[in-house]
Amino acid sequence: MPSSPTPKPGILSIAPYVGGKSSTPAGKRLIKLSSNESPLGPSPKAIEAYQAQGAKLQRYPDGSVALLREAIAKVHGLDPARIVCGAGSDEVIGLICHAYAGQGDEVLMSRHGFLMYKIYTQSNGAELVMAGEDNLTTSVDQLLAKVNERTRIVFVANPNNPTGTYITGTELKRLHKGLPPHVLLGVDAAYAEYVQEKDYADGLELASTTGNTVMFRTFSKIYALPALRIGWGYMPAAIADVLNRIRGPFNVSSAAIAAAAAAVADKEYLQRAVAHNARWLPWLSAELQKLGLKVTPSAGNFVLVEFAASGKTAEKANEYLMGQGIIVRDVKSYDLPSHLRITVGLEDENKAVISALRDFLK
Ligand SMILES: *Cc1c(COP(=O)(O)O)cnc(C)c1O
Repeated sequence: MPSSPTPKPGILSIAPYVGGKSSTPAGKRLIKLSSNESPLGPSPKAIEAYQAQGAKLQRYPDGSVALLREAIAKVHGLDPARIVCGAGSDEVIGLICHAYAGQGDEVLMSRHGFLMYKIYTQSNGAELVMAGEDNLTTSVDQLLAKVNERTRIVFVANPNNPTGTYITGTELKRLHKGLPPHVLLGVDAAYAEYVQEKDYADGLELASTTGNTVMFRTFSKIYALPALRIGWGYMPAAIADVLNRIRGPFNVSSAAIAAAAAAVADKEYLQRAVAHNARWLPWLSAELQKLGLKVTPSAGNFVLVEFAASGKTAEKANEYLMGQGIIVRDVKSYDLPSHLRITVGLEDENKAVISALRDFLK
């Protein structure tokens, strides 16, 4: 017998998630472009709904999350019974892994895919398998080549974080078609609202029409409510039934439910965030390229920038920006040591990061 409490297999092999930084040297104005939140902040209606909850803190939240599921269903034309909400879409990812993958099972993702898939896979004792990519983009062929009888889940972020790249609706369908029906396909559409490309699909159609696809979304990014931890998934009724058995009965707070329901109903505010990004993402990408940096084409609200050809390192660039009060995301943990990820900010923030990088590269 071990001489102290010992966690289940896999847990000690987890490299803890390190989020984007949020502080800089004292006294500097802070420009935070490290976690992909909308720079416009949340809808004023969401803030108001959040504040109204302050008078009701003595009551438990509605464990069925009816208000929010119905608000989401109305906006997206969905069946509210097939929506499951979580404390961030991270919790939805965690519930899927907890329910469908354990020891002896494999979970498949793409090489530079979102790290939470790996963390939840390992925390459930399952084995993570990574498939190669083409040009920092999900490769359906390379994913399908890794599927075997032990595969339980395939996760695809579309568009992916931190690369910003996406696969087309046709490719997503081809991936689904190549999977045996017992393999769950998890489509992470955290940045779906931003995508302008006409051949994109967010996975909702597959989640509506197949027995093994779950699509999940977050209120943390374009809705700018990350502090409240709220996300949701759309899935076949049988999978919703499974996740509802294992989620905590009060896994999302009243404040999160109220704010998110107000946010999703405020389509006008959403359009402002979409329009802001459609204007500044191309600007930021073009200006970075003018500085001689390599930019991966992004469909999200951030860009992945490579420093290898600039004669300077991403690490030094990151240190320099930090010294200027500008926080971007180092993506070493994604096996991208020569890259940084920069979130699209407000106009002056975008201009500040370009001007700082221009000085740095001189
Ligand atoms: C930010 C992000 C999430 C999770 O966000 P939550 O804050 O947990 O809702 C999930 N997937 C991707 C790809 C993300 O970038």
